[in-house]
Amino acid sequence: MHNPFETREIWFLTGDQGLYGPETLDQVAAQSRTIAKTLDAASDIPVRIVWKPVLTDRDAIREVALAANADPACVGVITWMHTFSPAKMWIQGLDALATPLLHLHTQANVEAPWSTIDMDFMNLNQAAHGDREFGYIATRLGVDRKTVVGHASDETVQAKIGRWARAATGWAEMHSLKLARFGDNMRGVAVTEGDKTEAEPRLGVSVNTWGVNDLVEVVDGIEESAVDELVAEYEELYDVVPERAAAASATSRCATAPGRSWACAASSRTAASARSPRTSRTSAGRARLPGLAVQRLMADGYGFGAEGDWKTAILVRVAAVMGYGLPGGASLMEDYTYDMTPGSEKILGAHMLEVSPALTTAKPSLEIHPLGIGDREDPVRLKFTADAGPAVVVALSDMRERFRLVANVVEVVEPDEESPKPPVACAVWEPAPDFATSAECWLTAGAAHHTVMTTAVGLEVWEDLATIADIELAIIDESTTVRSFAQEPRTNQVFHRLAQGF
Ligand code: MN
Repeated sequence: MHNPFETREIWFLTGDQGLYGPETLDQVAAQSRTIAKTLDAASDIPVRIVWKPVLTDRDAIREVALAANADPACVGVITWMHTFSPAKMWIQGLDALATPLLHLHTQANVEAPWSTIDMDFMNLNQAAHGDREFGYIATRLGVDRKTVVGHASDETVQAKIGRWARAATGWAEMHSLKLARFGDNMRGVAVTEGDKTEAEPRLGVSVNTWGVNDLVEVVDGIEESAVDELVAEYEELYDVVPERAAAASATSRCATAPGRSWACAASSRTAASARSPRTSRTSAGRARLPGLAVQRLMADGYGFGAEGDWKTAILVRVAAVMGYGLPGGASLMEDYTYDMTPGSEKILGAHMLEVSPALTTAKPSLEIHPLGIGDREDPVRLKFTADAGPAVVVALSDMRERFRLVANVVEVVEPDEESPKPPVACAVWEPAPDFATSAECWLTAGAAHHTVMTTAVGLEVWEDLATIADIELAIIDESTTVRSFAQEPRTNQVFHRLAQGF
């Protein structure tokens, strides 16, 4: 997967005014450079932090806001009011700003130099009220933002900024995302439907459909030599189950080709793909379902949603972007079946074939098994169990006039006992705050049965993304109670309808 942060920048903007003279302005410039440098050097912040000249009037502020909007490298801006920056000068700039905003409430020094503080020092270092003036105007204008408080050298501050930088980059990537669907969604299913046109103004994603036959055509055009190369790679990367090895080689053609064809059809490495040859009644023949290819594509950072589920494909892609470079990964997931033993309830998640090996550090085994449903050849798939550790499952549903994200904090656990029979990759987890509360809230929220499971990024990154996207996010975590949660969708409904205007 291409490093999505490499070419990206976050601009560091410092607010000031002319009142205190050129000497003070020079000091402000030097100190704000130091803060920007500190953030730029922080290992938790994956995006470059670029210092911009100190802002002292509304024209300059408006100009830099418009420049941030226009520069594809700029995924967000950080603001800090070192001295007092009367906030009326920020009105036009904030109004014009279409780039994610983080307000950093900090100051140049960590400790107050109590014994030497004089009026010059106090005039220079007055972010304590300068930032409150900025907060007022941003809130008055209804500007969504993340506010982070603390010194730039503090690792918790850097980590918060880093998480927001990941969300801001995810948002930028969504705006170049082209999502290719093959066929329509699985017939009769409600939650995988949705407003594909609205996905573009709300989420930045372009969703379009290709025929299954377009896919078959590309599959048929794959050179045998390319297939042989890939099979050699499989033998290196996976435990090819011996009794199935010959079959793996013979059937690899269909296992490998769809990845290429999707890349072609979507004409972009950033593309997410959803497909439904399984459920399509078109003339795809008895084509083998591309389980393995899909698993490998997800591990390479592509989005994917099964059964035509384009919304989950978006989530899988954006989760891969936001989690780039961190341990763990992102995958399509589906709640499959439960262990309802009181006190140790667990959820077994899997999908027919498509769980990403990004969720494991173990060597997956490559196996071929009959599909069980439908009239298709036995598909090749990677089998493994997801690593234990903290994770989040996130679903996106279409609530008619808006999209709703629902996130549940979960703990992926080692299964209590081996389950040798399921021929698919799976994950076993315990949802927070407990099984019954989690499921009751999930059902009440109308959240989907397909999710992205991410073990690379936590809840805060999703919260930041939801704020940036201005999209509803209902959270189920340790602090959730059914009573408070049940009220939330109702309150959100009122808020989001009003916030949208007419
Ligand atoms: Mn499914």
